[in-house]
Amino acid sequence: MNKRNRRYGSERLYVRSKNLLPGGVNSPVRAFAAVGCDPVFIAKANGSTVTDVDGYHYIDFCQSWGPLILGHTSPEVITAVQEAAGRGLSFGACHSAEGELADLILSGYPDFDRVRLVNSGTEAVMTALRIARAVTGRSLVLKFEGGYHGHSDGLLVKAGSGLATTGLASSAGVAPSVAATTVVARLNDEESVVRAFEAYGDDIAATIIEPVPANNGLLEQRSDYLKYLATATRQAGALLIADEVITGFRLQYGASLPAIELQPDLVTLGKIIGGGMPIGAVAGGRQLMENLAPLGSVYQAGTLSGNPLSVAAGIATLKELSRPSSYAKLERLGLLMDEVIHASGSSNLRLVRLGSMFWPYFCRDKPRAAHEINESAIKHFNDSYTWFLDSGFYLPPSGYEVCFLSTAHSEVECTSLTEALISAADNKFTGDLKK
Ligand SMILES: *Cc1c(COP(=O)(O)O)cnc(C)c1O
Repeated sequence: MNKRNRRYGSERLYVRSKNLLPGGVNSPVRAFAAVGCDPVFIAKANGSTVTDVDGYHYIDFCQSWGPLILGHTSPEVITAVQEAAGRGLSFGACHSAEGELADLILSGYPDFDRVRLVNSGTEAVMTALRIARAVTGRSLVLKFEGGYHGHSDGLLVKAGSGLATTGLASSAGVAPSVAATTVVARLNDEESVVRAFEAYGDDIAATIIEPVPANNGLLEQRSDYLKYLATATRQAGALLIADEVITGFRLQYGASLPAIELQPDLVTLGKIIGGGMPIGAVAGGRQLMENLAPLGSVYQAGTLSGNPLSVAAGIATLKELSRPSSYAKLERLGLLMDEVIHASGSSNLRLVRLGSMFWPYFCRDKPRAAHEINESAIKHFNDSYTWFLDSGFYLPPSGYEVCFLSTAHSEVECTSLTEALISAADNKFTGDLKK
């Protein structure tokens, strides 16, 4: 596309949407507020590419925020969903595919033997925490600054001031008493974990962590730190919940390596296991999971849970991923991006990458905790965002978000994005990189 072409169709639709939906969107980051341009309205997608309502094509490195590890419109997934749709959209009753998806999920988490399907990652986390509170008889949850676990009240918190305090609501409308059930510690900081358990250990029902925190930059944790955290959690008699909504089935089939090291009691899943359809899941061992109704006293339900279309998309996706070639291809694409950066000698860009998940960070260091992130590097990314769009790249519209490769991306596409990232990091906006 030509540089600085106006997206008239998107502009018009945004004006209309703003009069109908709060902020014109159904999820806040879609408003593009961080990057200073109007949101792009997508008309359709195919493989690695999205096409907007003005007919411009973009290579998509957001991939619906992670679920689409096979890219858009994977033939296997689309066929499975179409066939399922022909048999009925929802039964609100048992059906055979639920067991099939559960089996595929559990084969990626061999320590576990039960899974409950829900409708979103948010719900999965709510359910996992409810189980933890029920079995421990305790109220508090320990989470980490920069960790995202969906939008339930108790998790929309930030650290209070002072050492090891319970959280303050980070959203209006969250009761202070609910925010106070969450204790916030720092990633990559054993001391802050010590303090949290010293102050609240007897009341902490669960520690919840993204084994690879990927919702506030990509903050890869030291293995020592994760091990310490797991030990401290067990010693306090709390459960450990690995929130793998992004990382489950992203880095290899099933659990990410850090999640395996943590040996969590429960895992929350979402995104990839629904292949682009709404889903979430909690997985764990039978003893813990059978606390859920109807067997146990922990209530959880959902009109559309185990939805046949979501389950069909999940099964098709996990079956494709169970071929060894899938992750090998993703890793090859990632390594290629590393090589392009290395060969360029650019010192202004760090591609923080794990498998097919990468965070373009316009800075040399590699942060491991939220407070270590360089804000001017984020601003630099956000300021460059429109140029990426105009060059034919659709990236997550915030410098704090991670990008995703899919098996539908090509080497040429990954190379051209990497070259564009290098140009932007070095402030050399060299014009169109793609038609
Ligand atoms: C996306 C995400 C969630 C929330 O999932 P939704 O399906 O958006 O509710 C929870 N935890 C993590 C780690 C996530 O990445």
